[in-house]
This record gives sequence, structure tokens and C-alpha cells, in this order.
Amino acid sequence: MEGKFDVVVVGGGHAGCEAASAAARYGAETLLITLKRTGIGVMSCNPAIGGIGKGQLVREIDALDGLMGRVADAAAIQYRLLNRRKGPAVRGPRAQADRALYRRAMGEAIAEQARLTVIEGEAVGFETENGRLRRVRLADGREIACGAMVVTTGTFLNGLIHMGDRQIRAGRIDEPATKGLSDELLASGFKLARLKTGTPPRLDGRSIDWRAVDRQSADEDPVAFSFMTGVVRNPQIDCGVTRTTTETHRIIRENLHRSAMYSGAIGGVGPRYCPSIEDKIAKFGDRDGHQIFLEPEGLDDDTVYPNGISTSLPESVQREFLKTIAGLEKAIVVQPGYAIEYDHVDPRELRHTLETRRIAGLFLAGQINGTTGYEEAGAQGLVAGLNAARLAAGNDGITISRGQGYIGVMIDDLVCRGVAEPYRMFTSRSEFRLSLRADNADRRLTPMAIELGIAGAGRRLHFERKSAAFDDAARLAKSIVVSPDEAARKGFRLNRDGIRRSAFELMSYPEIGIAEIMAAWPEFRRFDDGILQDLETEARYAAYLDRQEADIASVMREEARAIPSDLDVDALPGLSNELKQKIAECRPANIAQAQRIDGMTPAAIGIIIAHVKRAEKHRRAVR
Ligand code: FAD
Repeated sequence: MEGKFDVVVVGGGHAGCEAASAAARYGAETLLITLKRTGIGVMSCNPAIGGIGKGQLVREIDALDGLMGRVADAAAIQYRLLNRRKGPAVRGPRAQADRALYRRAMGEAIAEQARLTVIEGEAVGFETENGRLRRVRLADGREIACGAMVVTTGTFLNGLIHMGDRQIRAGRIDEPATKGLSDELLASGFKLARLKTGTPPRLDGRSIDWRAVDRQSADEDPVAFSFMTGVVRNPQIDCGVTRTTTETHRIIRENLHRSAMYSGAIGGVGPRYCPSIEDKIAKFGDRDGHQIFLEPEGLDDDTVYPNGISTSLPESVQREFLKTIAGLEKAIVVQPGYAIEYDHVDPRELRHTLETRRIAGLFLAGQINGTTGYEEAGAQGLVAGLNAARLAAGNDGITISRGQGYIGVMIDDLVCRGVAEPYRMFTSRSEFRLSLRADNADRRLTPMAIELGIAGAGRRLHFERKSAAFDDAARLAKSIVVSPDEAARKGFRLNRDGIRRSAFELMSYPEIGIAEIMAAWPEFRRFDDGILQDLETEARYAAYLDRQEADIASVMREEARAIPSDLDVDALPGLSNELKQKIAECRPANIAQAQRIDGMTPAAIGIIIAHVKRAEKHRRAVR
């Protein structure tokens, strides 16, 4: 036996780092076992964090005092707030990251964490006593006793890389796959399946003709991930933007049979929302070309990540099609693209705490649960690590509800519905997206982190100051109440309906924002810009939130409503082809069954209910 820890975390990727940090912050003596210390914080695929839905997850991790937001801020070299022109509910903070800076910042965060030890090693199995996990076994024969264990092995379980007809056993390029844990999980009765993901070739930026491609710049007013990040310090860089051509498409189409995905070599299902270039051409045809973002991988790194052309075609074909793309005619490939297949555990094996139902004390988080993406992995890691630490200390598990955060939405989706393809977060997965915004993640979750004891003193102080100022500003906005006539004297044109409205309510009018309120009532000037911005957003959404709650209540009442077996799926307006296909296959008998279809969104359920109601009305009228 080699010592005893409260919590052992297996894997130092995005889920593992958050799990280890959360467990140690909670107070557990924690051990992180990972294949290579240098692999801590490695971004396996694209050098970017956040996006729509994913950015909300990063903010939630940050609100719970997790690592990803702060680490991403330390590494960000191009911030872009996605959906900036749309409402705050669907805005997604995103940043391209310098790979080396990200890894360094994550390594430092792990090294600085009290009660956290890191060792290199390969976990190959575990021992249980009376159905409770008690020991972890390593490949070199070491055994470590523990109160709970979190497995976060990413794409490494039985990992198999495909590059055309070449196959390599690996967890990701140049790193060995692991097998023992898969065997152990299978032997314990867990349901495992295969999934796949892919990555594009990496290019030498010095061989790209940057004059021949468009440019995309960073936002002028960068929005950081972490609520704790004051100023953005890294220089912000441009990306290149180019497109595939009809010639690119011809080469890919002619070689489709040589792509591992189309030759039948890969059995696992890939991520629908991150399709390979072969998929785009086979499924979406020629169009006038598919966009490629040329993303530099770092400030001192010439490697470029061509986002949009992930592929498992043979290396020679990759080189050939790259020559047909503007700017890439002479591009040197420093690492070919590839696809990887790996084992994952059916997430319906899990409780909402991410503890497995079969073995008490065994928690799973990240890609092993059928998700894809750093953010999805990190968010699960935090929940699993926290709960492992609570279990080891003899406390009950903590869950996050669908109404509290995207973390809750994701875990509920995984645990209740399972996955048929790699699961990725979108804002449309949430029925509460008006309230689950990136801007208010701290107000939603930091109080919970403080209460649980996983928020550091700095975070607590920062949050308490910010909330006091916000409450103050909200009180002021609600205490100023005016009639339409009084409002008119301040320059606001309202209906002369005699209704008195507060300054807070006035901000629900599209033409009235915080700037107009400040012009009318200068006393708001004493608050910081950030507080005023939050106040405006909260006020804008307040009216919709009541409606959202009413809509949710009505959907719940509708669950038993029968869906006629002759439902004409094609007549459903505004539904994606993907959902139409799934509905046609599953033929749900009622709304509750339709809700459980993988990928079903609250908006789509609303459309189905409306359609079924119309059909019922029509039938009654005909009779
Ligand atoms: P990982 O980040 O993979 O970390 C796993 C860790 O576990 C590693 O540190 C490894 O050393 C360690 N480990 C494994 N087995 C053991 C063991 N037995 N003992 C000890 N340590 C072990 N995501 C997207 O969102 N979009 C994409 O397009 C995309 N493409 C991808 C392409 C490729 C080729 C790969 C490999 C991944 C891709 N991803 C993509 C997924 C993304 O990398 C993962 O979702 C994310 O890294 C998952 O985090 P994780 O913590 O679960 O696992």
C-alpha cells in the first residue's frame, strides 16, 4: 500500500484538474494521478475556451471558484463575445488561448493548491469492499487507499487513432492509450460504448500566405471569463479566415472511401456539431465553400490550428486538399489531422452527483461520460470532485438543478437521457436560458460555493462587495417610481395609462437603457459600469422571466398530452431536420416521451404542443 487519501482523481485533463481542485478546496486530502505531469492542462484539440453555451459553463465553473475561467484569462490571446448583437441570454464569451500559457497557468493552479498531491502513473483498476470503492491500483503495482475516486480519463480508454487506413493505439497523438480501467469497468457490469472525435492538421504559420486570407480581430473591449479578472494583459491577436473551394471538395469527395470515417474503419459516433470536413462535404454538399479560421496556437508559436477542417483522410490527401485553399497553397503540415475512437461509459449509470449507481465512491467526469469539450469536462469535474470529497467526509451529495445552471442542465440530460453521440452544450438545451446567463453566473452559484466552503477568501470578499453594490443599485432603481407624466418630463415617452413605473421597470422598454436612466437620475453615477450593466440586463429580463416560468409550468401540465401516431413531422414549422428525423424514428406517443428524445429542446417541445393542439382543434371542428 502506498498511502491513503480522501479522494483520488485519475487523469489531469480538464475534468481532472477541476475535480482535484474542488476536492482539495473542500478540505479533502487529494491525490491526482495522471499519465504525465506535463499533460496537465493540455488542450487536446482546438486552442480555445468558451463559446455559446460553453462560455456560460466556464462562467459557472468560475462562480464556483473553479479554475478554468482564471486559467483561460491568463492564456487568452483573442477574446470575442459571440452573439454580441443578440440578447445577453445567448451571448457566449469565447477566447482563443495560447496553448503553452494555458498549460502553464493550469499547472501553477494545481501546484499552488493546498492538500493536493500529484503523481505520475497509470490507474488500471480498483478494489471495493461491501460495494464501496476502497483502493486504486496502478500499472506499476502500487495501490492507494481512498475514500472516493473520480475517473476522468478523457479519450484515453482503449483510444484508437485513425489516419486514413493507418491505426495507432493512443489516447491522443503521441500519448499511449490505457486499457485496464475499461476492462475493470466492464467486469464490474458497466455499459460501455464507442464514440469518436477528430482534429484538423496543424500548419506552420510561416508557410501560410496571410495576405491572401481575410482577417478577424479580437473584440476592442474584451470580456474576460472570470469574475475575478480585472484587466486583460495578454496582447490580442488576429485570426485568418479562408474557405474551401470546389477543387478542395472534389479531392475530398474522390477520396471519401479512404477516410477512416467512410471506409467503415470507425464504429463510434462523432460529434454532430463539430463535423469533419468529409462530413460537411458528404452531408451538406458543395455550397460555395466551408469557412476555415486560421487560429495561431500561441504568441511565441508558429503553429496554426485551421478550425473547420478536422479530418481522418490519409496524410497525403490532407496535403493535397490544403493546396487548393487560398493562403494555404504552400502550407507545411506539422502534424496531420486524425480521428480518435474511445470507450465511454453510459452516463445513465450515474447519479446527479456523478457517483456511479453500481459502485459507491466511484465518480466519473468528462469525456468518459460521453461529452465533448473542455468546458463540459471541467464542469462535471468540479461537481464530481466536490461530491467525492463530501462522500469521503461522510456528507450528502450536492446537485445543481436545471434552474440553477447549465451545469445542472448538462448533468440532468446525461443522467436521464444518456447519449447517442458526443454531448455538447448549447443554450437551446435549457428551458431557463433567460435566467441562466453568463453575466449572472456568480449571483446564481457563488453563494452556494461560499456556503459549501469551496470558495477562497478572495472570491468571497469580491462577491460580497459586488452583490452589496448590485443590491444597492437595484433598490435605488426600484425606489424611483414615476407616472407617465413625470416620466415625460424626464424625456421618456410612455403610454398615458396612468400606471406608475419604477426606473427598474422602465429599463424593460427596448429604447430605455441604463444610459437614459443615468441621464435622468444622476445618482446612479456612483455605481461602477459593471454593476450598472448587470442592473440593466436584470431589469430587461425581469418581465420575460415571469413569462418563462409560466411557459415552463404549462409544458409540465402538457406532458400527458397524446401525440397522434399520424403526426406529419414535415409539417412542424421551425424544427431542425435533425429533430424531425429523430421524431420520425422514435414516434413518441406523448409529450413526455418526446421530451426524452436526445437533442430535444424546450423550444421544439413548444412547437410540437402547438401543432398537436391545432390538429386536435381541427379534428373537433371537422366532427
Ligand atoms: P482529457 O483532457 O483527455 O484528459 C484525460 C487525462 O487523463 C489525461 O491527462 C491523461 O493523461 C489522463 N489519463 C488517461 N487515462 C489514465 C489512466 N489510466 N491513469 C492516469 N491518467 C490517465 N472537443 C471539442 O469540444 N471539440 C472538438 O472538436 C474536439 N476534438 C477533439 C479531437 C481530438 C483528437 C481529441 C483527443 C479531443 C477532442 N476534443 C474536442 C475533446 C476535448 O479534448 C475533450 O473533451 C476534453 O479534453 C475532455 O477532457 P477530459 O478531462 O475528460 O479528458
